[in-house]
Amino acid sequence: MFDNDYFTEEELSCRCCGKLHFSNDTMRRLIRVRVRFNKPMVVTSGYRCPAHCAKIGSTMTHTTGQAVDVSVAGGRAYELLGIAIEEGFTGIGVKQHGPHGGRFLHLDDLEPIQGERTRPTVWSY
Ligand SMILES: [Zn+2]
Repeated sequence: MFDNDYFTEEELSCRCCGKLHFSNDTMRRLIRVRVRFNKPMVVTSGYRCPAHCAKIGSTMTHTTGQAVDVSVAGGRAYELLGIAIEEGFTGIGVKQHGPHGGRFLHLDDLEPIQGERTRPTVWSY
């Protein structure tokens, strides 16, 4: 799965414990986006274990191995957003205020979960 030129196991692993469970389908989708984007995509968060999610107070989307946060801002964020939607990412989180270094897009391809928001969907932080 990680035999590719774009993403490393290290950047997709849980920041607290180094565990990594990542979906093959999501990885392939991410690579398709990266090839079309044709610029570096710095992943600030990939897989997160449940304990790490609880500690930082985030939703559990990252525990599925179907979600990444990509450091990106401004015009590049606009471009990446369009490509991600076209390639089938169904959950888009937008953090585009504050210093550019802290801006990112969350991309995931989760299926709709009963009782949760319908997908595709977009939200802001
Ligand atoms: Zn962890």
